[in-house]
Amino acid sequence: MATRHLIIGGGTAGINAIRTLREEESERSEITLVSAEKPYSRMVLPYYLDRSIAESHVYTATARVLADWGVKAHLGRRAAALDVKGNVCTLEDGTKVEYDDCLIATGSSPVKAPVPGADGRAVHSFWTLDEAQAVVAELTPGSHVVMVGAGFIAFTILNSILALGAKLTIVEVAPRILPRMIDDTGARLVEAWLKKHGVAIRTGVKLTKIADVKGRKQLKFASGADIVCDLVIMATGITTNLDWLKGSGVRVNHGVVVDDRQRSSVPNVYAAGDIAEGRDRVTGEPAVHAIEPTAQEHGRVAGANMAGKDVRYRGSLLINIVEVCHLDVASFGAWDDATAETATGLKADRPAYRKLLWRGDRLTGAIILGPSQDIWTTNDVGMLKGLVQSGVSLARWKAHLKKNPFDVKNAFIASKTTHTLLPETILGRPSKAPGDTPVAV
Ligand SMILES: Cc1cc2nc3c(=O)[nH]c(=O)nc-3n(C[C@H](O)[C@H](O)[C@H](O)COP(=O)(O)OP(=O)(O)OC[C@H]3O[C@@H](n4cnc5c(N)ncnc54)[C@H](O)[C@@H]3O)c2cc1C
Repeated sequence: MATRHLIIGGGTAGINAIRTLREEESERSEITLVSAEKPYSRMVLPYYLDRSIAESHVYTATARVLADWGVKAHLGRRAAALDVKGNVCTLEDGTKVEYDDCLIATGSSPVKAPVPGADGRAVHSFWTLDEAQAVVAELTPGSHVVMVGAGFIAFTILNSILALGAKLTIVEVAPRILPRMIDDTGARLVEAWLKKHGVAIRTGVKLTKIADVKGRKQLKFASGADIVCDLVIMATGITTNLDWLKGSGVRVNHGVVVDDRQRSSVPNVYAAGDIAEGRDRVTGEPAVHAIEPTAQEHGRVAGANMAGKDVRYRGSLLINIVEVCHLDVASFGAWDDATAETATGLKADRPAYRKLLWRGDRLTGAIILGPSQDIWTTNDVGMLKGLVQSGVSLARWKAHLKKNPFDVKNAFIASKTTHTLLPETILGRPSKAPGDTPVAV
C-alpha cells in the first residue's frame, strides 16, 4: 500500500514539503493536504496591497497544480485534533483523516491589541489574504491610516500604504520602533528618516480604546491626544497556532519541538515553519523563527525525510530585512546578544549605521542600515548576512572590521565566504526549476 502522508497547513512550509515529497520519493505516495486557507504566500501580500501584483500571483499552488501533484486537498477546513497513537487527524467538521506520517505546518495567527473596538469596522490585522483584501477595499488615496505596532510586519507594508497615497501614523507601546529587530541607535535613525518622509510616529503610547465617531475611527490612549483616522491596521504581534494540538502528546514549548530532521517528539509527526521550534544556526539553541526562509527550508527538510531520505538541517538563520522609503534596514543572527563583543559605526548624516557582534573570531550577529541608493548598503546587507550565516573565521580581519565596520567587502572576499556558502544546499542537491508553480525546491 502507498505511504499516506498528511500535510496540515498549506502555507510556505506545507507547500514546500509537498513539492519536496514528490521530488524525492522513490515510490508514488498518497498526499492529503488539510488547510484552513488556499495555498498562498503571506510575504507577497504587501505587493498585492499596492497593486504591484494581481491576486492571482499571491497563490503558490492552485487547484490545478495540486491535482497535477496528485494531492487530495481539503481546503477551507481546519484540523481540530491529532491522535498520534491511532495516526488519525480529526477535522473541525468531524472528518477523520488517517496517515502514516504527518506534517504540522499550521503557522501563526495575528494577535490584536486587547482593547474595546479592536474587532470593529475598519480595524484589521494584515496577516491573511482575507485581511489584505479588506484593507485593499478600504484604503483610499488621501485617507488617514493608523498602524498600531511598529514591528517587522508593520514595516513590510509601510511603503505600500504610502504608495497608495494615504497619510500614515504609527503608534507603538514600546519606547521605540522595531524593538525586536534593531537596537536603540538604529531605531532612532529609522524614526527620524520616516518622520522626514512624512510618517507620524508616537512611541511609548498605550492604546486603550477604538471608537466610531462620525463615520471615522477615534483612537484613545492612556496618555496623550486622541487620533482620528479612517482605517486602523493592527500589527501587534502573532501567536503560533498550537491550540489544536493540546492533549495530542506532541511536545510543545514555544513551538512544536523538532530535531534536526524536523521530527517532533512523536517519530512519524514532523513540524515546519512558524509553528516549529528548531535549531538556531548561530546560537545552536532552540528557537521559533517566524520568517519565510525558515518555513521554506523546514518544509524542504521535512518533505525529504518524509519521502524516506535522511536529510539533516543545519539550523535556521534569523533574518530581518526591510526597505522603508528607500532606507535599507536589516539584522541577522544574534543581533541583540548583550554578552557579545561589539563594534559600531555611525554616519548620522546619511544616515548609515552598522553594528557587528562577535563571539571569538566569528561574526554572530549584525545590524545594518543605510540609504538603498548607496551601493555599499545593499551589497553589505548581503555580505554581512553571508558572514553571519557561514560562521567563517575572521581572525585576520577582526581588528580591521572593528575599526572599520563600513569596510566589509575585503573581509568577505578574503575569508572566502562565497566559497563556503556556494556548495551548501538544503537537500544535498541543487534546486530544481519550479516548473508550473512559483515554489522552487
Ligand atoms: C504581510 C506579511 C509580510 C511578510 N514579510 C516577510 C518578509 O519580508 N520576510 C520574511 O521572512 N517573512 C515575512 N513574513 C512572514 C512569513 O510570511 C511567514 O513566516 C510564513 O508565511 C510562515 O510560513 P508557514 O508555512 O509556517 O505558515 P503560514 O504561511 O502561516 O501557513 C500556515 C497555513 O496553515 C493553515 N492553518 C492554520 N491553522 C490550521 C488548522 N488548524 N488546520 C488546517 N490548516 C490550518 C493556515 O490557513 C495557512 O494556510 C510576512 C508575513 C506577512 C503577513
